[in-house]
Amino acid sequence: MLRKKSEPVPVNEIRSAEIKKLLKDMFETMEVAEGLGLAAPQIGVLKRVVVVGFHRSSRYPDVKETIERRILINPEIEILKGPVEGFWEGCLSVPDMRGYVERSRNIRLKWHDEKEEFHDEIIEGFDAVVYQHECDHLDGVLYVDRLKDPRLFGYNDELDMIEETRTRVAV
Ligand code: ZN
Repeated sequence: MLRKKSEPVPVNEIRSAEIKKLLKDMFETMEVAEGLGLAAPQIGVLKRVVVVGFHRSSRYPDVKETIERRILINPEIEILKGPVEGFWEGCLSVPDMRGYVERSRNIRLKWHDEKEEFHDEIIEGFDAVVYQHECDHLDGVLYVDRLKDPRLFGYNDELDMIEETRTRVAV
């Protein structure tokens, strides 16, 4: 499932009971796992739907950023020119591991929300990194495909013992 490409949601189905139920399941899963975001394929549904939303938690005391709660239906990302930033990324679908990934800090994001409204925004900084990780899931791409260096990847228990690799974020 994680390696498959997800299908767009027809705009006239955005308000359907099926999508409402999917969104409820996704938020519940994300909150239980204390993730920053979740893409539908992570719960076995091959639809182009992402939820994000994060406030500081005990699981990631090092993560200072918070992410506004948002629903992205059929999101499209355009990577903009500018600086890249590296994070030790984790993923609920690749448990107990993390790897160092560099991504652009600037994207243009287009999406529909759960009320069928269309958005087109420039997103900067940490949020842009999280959106890229989540939207990759819709194309069957995992952060492990984007490692800066294959050696910068490992089990959390082992990386926790090294000062430079301790800080992590999970998406
Ligand atoms: Zn992920």
